[in-house]
Amino acid sequence: MERSRVLVVGAGFAGFETVRHLEKHLGPQEAEITLISPGGYMLYLPLLPHVAAGVISSRSIAVPLYRMLKRTHIVPGGAIGVDLDAKVCVVRKITGELVNIAYDQIVLCPGSVTRSFDIPGLDKYGRGMKNLAEAVALRDHVIAQLELANSSLDQDERRARCQFVVVGGGYAGVETAACLEMVTSSALDHFPRLDPSQVRWTVLDMAPRLMPELGENLGRAALEILARRGVDVRLETSVTAVGADSVTLTSGEVLPCRTLVWTAGVAASPLIGTLGSETVRGRLAVGSDLAVPGRRDVFGLGDAAAVPDVDKGDGAICPPTAQYAMRQARVAAHNVIAGIKGGGFREFRHKDLGLVVDLGGTEAVARPLGRELRGLPAQALTRGYHLMALPGFRSRARVAAAWGMHAFAGDDFIRLGFLAGRTGALSDYEHTHAYLSREELGEQVGG
Ligand SMILES: Cc1cc2nc3c(=O)[nH]c(=O)nc-3n(C[C@H](O)[C@H](O)[C@H](O)COP(=O)(O)OP(=O)(O)OC[C@H]3O[C@@H](n4cnc5c(N)ncnc54)[C@H](O)[C@@H]3O)c2cc1C
Repeated sequence: MERSRVLVVGAGFAGFETVRHLEKHLGPQEAEITLISPGGYMLYLPLLPHVAAGVISSRSIAVPLYRMLKRTHIVPGGAIGVDLDAKVCVVRKITGELVNIAYDQIVLCPGSVTRSFDIPGLDKYGRGMKNLAEAVALRDHVIAQLELANSSLDQDERRARCQFVVVGGGYAGVETAACLEMVTSSALDHFPRLDPSQVRWTVLDMAPRLMPELGENLGRAALEILARRGVDVRLETSVTAVGADSVTLTSGEVLPCRTLVWTAGVAASPLIGTLGSETVRGRLAVGSDLAVPGRRDVFGLGDAAAVPDVDKGDGAICPPTAQYAMRQARVAAHNVIAGIKGGGFREFRHKDLGLVVDLGGTEAVARPLGRELRGLPAQALTRGYHLMALPGFRSRARVAAAWGMHAFAGDDFIRLGFLAGRTGALSDYEHTHAYLSREELGEQVGG
């Protein structure tokens, strides 16, 4: 039997889990597995706010691909176009070199990018919270604002540098604001010239509630915790313009501000747009078996795909969460194997297990299986859940040790500065302009 060439794009929750299952259930003589990944790690995104807050180091949540995967061929680079008819994926290696990789089956898991709107200045001045570079750069930027405000005599400058705005009242935005607010409030001891009342975090969301998926009670509990810490939560409010030192709100108010974190939703990776395949709100349209309708060689899952939520029905699609991506991976791997060895495809079904939201320190809110938890029990569950969900013993040990060390020794407020040369723009950190047009793809594959 000829070896099947299985190509997996993206080593996040969906791609990494798919490859692990393929390695387990396919013999080396049955399939050659190739994984395309820009980094040598799988990133455990839910703990990104802890990296931004300096609670854990970036290495702690970077699960090493070369150690965890046994026989997968890893190509260091990013897929920039896929020709589904020619069955070729174009990859830009980290050197910049373009290579065409032919496959028999492709599993598309490139995840998502920050969904930005046509708001003047957002792409230039907005900061994302989707990858390690953004988290590390945000931490440096926040500490730099305190340092600069502390050393400035200009009142306007001090005010703008001490105002931090997070747009997005979902779990990513709330966790980011909560964890970083703890950084700025505990840093005040080290910046004696700063007026504590000037240091201010504001969370904006167009919705009338924070984190609606948590239910009304827990959403209100999270809001109360933030309010107690002085975080100004403004609902049914967003921004209309972002400048270098100000943010204009939908209410017309202009806030002097030099830090805008944008977490108001995600959009499928631009790679999906190169396929010429049907999409649902930008996500790749797939069936409940995760295959593109009418094809048995193209699968999509995770944030990049619109996977039908069969149990909910009514055209509902699965939410873009790690919980769903990891479980979809098992079905995708099963169906890839069925395509190679023969057999029927399986359908993806999953009932939401709930959500955990870490608000820093001992504060958290959680809704496991419909139960409502807050305070220490919620925090214990949140941290226990992350430790279980993180792949690999070493990563778990690193995170647990970092939590312990931070509780014991606190923050050192070091600004590393090694990303200082970057523009800070969303498109820069998330490489959204890296992709080929359909014409360029045709030339690259045809030529
Ligand atoms: C701050 C934050 C907190 C979160 N907290 C939670 C939580 O508590 N619970 C939960 O369930 N979910 C949470 N999520 C959502 C969850 O992280 C995502 O839904 C999940 O990561 C989606 O998995 P994925 O595999 O589709 O994408 P990702 O995990 O993002 O993986 C995509 C991978 O593809 C790579 N890639 C991108 N483009 C290309 C390309 N062109 N070629 C090759 N590789 C590419 C990326 O580098 C990445 O490694 C959180 C997200 C964020 C940002």
